[in-house]
This record gives sequence, structure tokens and C-alpha cells, in this order.
Amino acid sequence: SDPKAAGRALIREHALIAGEAIPVKGEGIAVDDPATGEIIGHVPDLGAAETERAVKAAHDAFADWSRSDPHARAAFLRRWAALIDENAEGIAGLMALENGKTLTEARGEIAYANGFIKWSAGEAERILGETQDTPLGHLIVTFKEAVGPCALITPWNFPAAMLTRKLGPAFAAGCTAVVKPASQTPFTAIALVELAYEAGLPKGALSIITGDAATIGGVLTASPLIRKLSFTGSTPVGRKLAEQCAPTLKRVSMELGGAAPLIVFEDADLDLAVAETIKGKFRNSGQTCVCPNRVYVHASIAEAYAEQLAAEVAKLKVGAAFEPDVKVGPLIEDKALDKVEDHLTKVQAAGGKVLTGGSRHALGGRFFEPTVTLGGDDALFREEETFGPLVPVFPFEDEAEVLHKANATPYGLASFVFTRDLDRAMRVARRLENGIVGVNAAMVSTPVAPFGGVKQSGYGREGSVHGIEEYLDIKAVTLNLR
Ligand code: ADP
Repeated sequence: SDPKAAGRALIREHALIAGEAIPVKGEGIAVDDPATGEIIGHVPDLGAAETERAVKAAHDAFADWSRSDPHARAAFLRRWAALIDENAEGIAGLMALENGKTLTEARGEIAYANGFIKWSAGEAERILGETQDTPLGHLIVTFKEAVGPCALITPWNFPAAMLTRKLGPAFAAGCTAVVKPASQTPFTAIALVELAYEAGLPKGALSIITGDAATIGGVLTASPLIRKLSFTGSTPVGRKLAEQCAPTLKRVSMELGGAAPLIVFEDADLDLAVAETIKGKFRNSGQTCVCPNRVYVHASIAEAYAEQLAAEVAKLKVGAAFEPDVKVGPLIEDKALDKVEDHLTKVQAAGGKVLTGGSRHALGGRFFEPTVTLGGDDALFREEETFGPLVPVFPFEDEAEVLHKANATPYGLASFVFTRDLDRAMRVARRLENGIVGVNAAMVSTPVAPFGGVKQSGYGREGSVHGIEEYLDIKAVTLNLR
């Protein structure tokens, strides 16, 4: 009943290669509680040799797993999901401990993460082929086949969901996997992997390797045995990994950074726009790739919106994950605060006024005050994700101008539009260069929705009926029937 203690009890200080626990040798990599900086445990600092072993295991397990009955794979996914549900409180506690997100959010993420596994169980049962007559008088039959052993590299901001969003469809399709979690939050991922084995997954089908990211990533991308990379993380790292995958021509999915605009038109429901801005922006302390990074509000209501937003933001309780009623936690590491501070300084220098917040929090450490600014220059916020609790609000004059600004960015992940005018909502949604658009909503992630970006936010889609396609190849068999 003490979620923090339950979380601590799930810490396993080992990597797993085909089910074999690989303990920490020497110092290992320290994992801390972002709220206090206290070291909560270590994971092994593994390198090329261990990664090669994991790749070989994924390769060896692939033949049987990929040819297994998809209904058996669905049954495995359902057992895994049931075990995650049974252990949800402990894993949520563990995640809150290593990531710093509030316990309420951690619980929400476990449910969301498990949603991908449950959805994928259904997907395994409906991997469909096609038949078609050809002009040559033949019949074509298509098979959807597992791509092969996969490398899955995940970030720290959603330690469970970013993993299950890949592993669910990978296993449904019949792929095997080597996982490299973020070094800041490896314990949640290790706990999920343990439960996958317990649910009956063939051990070789899954390994989790911790250690130097560039070394492990280098081996995974160079290996001809790995046929697919799915990566969620920053655009610079994604670009580098895509390059590294080119020599072996791997299938690649990239879920990268964003710089999401949130647009509030003059006819919007202001209370709704304010409430959704807060939900979208302050989730995970502003550390998500779909967080509104820049808010554009029609000049006629910009002050009213910004003042109401500031008044609500001022009420958000800041604190450690396990304190009651906390809405905003710490940032993941010290350098994350430097970035928020830098963005704040720059928007202020350009004429932005601070309406609430504006500095590091009195709690010290990695806490930053939830901050709202009005005015200044939006250019920086098109180019860089703040990834912290700062909402810069910029007034705009008309639809064409705001559309231009919204799209004048290298990124194209998410955008959000607030208006009561359906024509405008659809017109703007269709002109926004993004993979994801929320209309009168800033919380849009669910296993049912296709998630992914365009431009330098990457390619490929996760979740929905499309997610599994990233892990399937099409084989066309031509039958010359007499
Ligand atoms: P973030 O800003 O979210 O930390 P990163 O792109 O740095 O984004 O990290 C996302 C994931 O990519 C993490 O698991 C990290 O360890 C891993 N990573 C970082 N650099 C590399 C690299 N050169 N090769 C492979 N993986 C990497």
C-alpha cells in the first residue's frame, strides 16, 4: 500500500539476455530519483560483446516465434497484459521513482502502456492477406510476414508506453527484439521484460541491454541480423541512427522531436482551451514530444487567455511524485533546467512578459516553476523543444499568418486547434503539416490513434491498425492454377 516501497521492491539491478540476468560488474550506471538526486540503484554498463549475444539470441529465436500460431502469440500478449495489470501499482511506483512523474500520471501511463499490449493481442489475430486474379491468368496470394529481429531504442519520458508501443506489435507480428532503454529510467523496462518471460515468452525472443547508448546502438544498427530499428527519441540521434541503418537497409521507424503549436481562435471556448493547454503542457512536467511548445492566440483574446491560463497554472502544486495532489514534478536532469531557463531568458529578452512562474522553484534541485509568458518572438520555439514547464503565448492577427507560423518549423509531429467553427477546424487541420492534430483537445494519445510525425519528426506510425504494419513484410505468391 506504500507505492514508493512497492516501486523500490521491483528494482532489478541487471540486464537480461535471453532470460539470463546479467548483473552489474564494477560501477555500473547509477539511476537516480529526479526529485532528490538520491541514487536508487545501478544497471550494468554493457557493451558490444553483450549486445552481439542478445542479437544472436533474437536471431536464433526468430525462426520458431515468427512461425508460431498468431493466436498463441495473442494469448501470450493477454497473459503479459494481465500480469502488468496485477503489478500495476508497483510498476507505477517504480516509474514515478526513476522518472519523477506524479504517481497519478505513472498509473495512467501503465494503463496506457498496457493498452498497446491488449490492442496488439487483437491485431495478432487479424493479420490479413489478400487474393487477386492477375492479367496473366494467375492468382496472387499475399502473406504478411514478420520483418525479423528488431532493435528497439526508447526514451526516458514514457518508460513503459514507448516500450509496449513497440513490443506489442512486434510480438503480435512474430518479431523478436533487443531493447535498449534510456539509462535514466531502465528499471521500469526491466520489470516489464521480467513479466514478459513470466507470461511465457520464449526467452530468446527478448533481451534488454543497458550501457553506453552509442556503443549498443552502433552494434544494433550495424548487425545484418537485425532487420528493423524502431526508435523514439531526439531528432539528432534519430538522424544518426537512420544513417547507421542505411548500409544494411533496415526497415526504420522514427518517432522524433516536435515543436507543437497550439492555436486558439477568437471564437474558441476559453475555459476549455485553458484547461486543455494545462493538461497537454504540464503532463510529465512538460517533457513530452507532443506537448504544446508554442501557443498562438488571436490578438483580440490573447490577454484574457494568457491571464486565465496564468491564474490556473499558478495553482498547480509542484513536488515529488508521491506527495498528495502534486501536479508538476521535477525535470529529468540538471541540464533540462538549463534549457528551460535559456528559453525563458530569450523570450523575455524579445519582449515576452512573465505572467506566472519565471524561475527555478523554491524546492531547489530539478524543480522549475510552472511558467506562462505573453509576447516576444516565437522563432526559437519553432526550432527547439523546451521540454519543460514553460508556456510561451504569442498573439496573432489572422488565420493565414498563424498557419504560416505553425508550419514554419522543421518538425511535424502534433498540433492543436481551438475553435467552435467546424469549417475552420477542418480547413486548418488539413493545412497543418503534422502527423497528429487535436481539435479542441490537447490530450490525444491512445492505442487506437495512429501516432507519428512528418518532416523531421520522423516516419512510421505506432498504435492503431497501422502500428503492426511497421513489423510486417508482404510476400506475394503467384499461383499458376490449372
Ligand atoms: P532524450 O533527449 O529523450 O534523452 P535521446 O535521443 O538522447 O533523447 O535518447 C533516446 C534514446 O536514445 C535513449 O535510450 C538514449 O540512450 C538513446 N541514444 C542516445 N544516443 C544514442 C546513440 N548515439 N545511439 C543509440 N542510441 C542512443
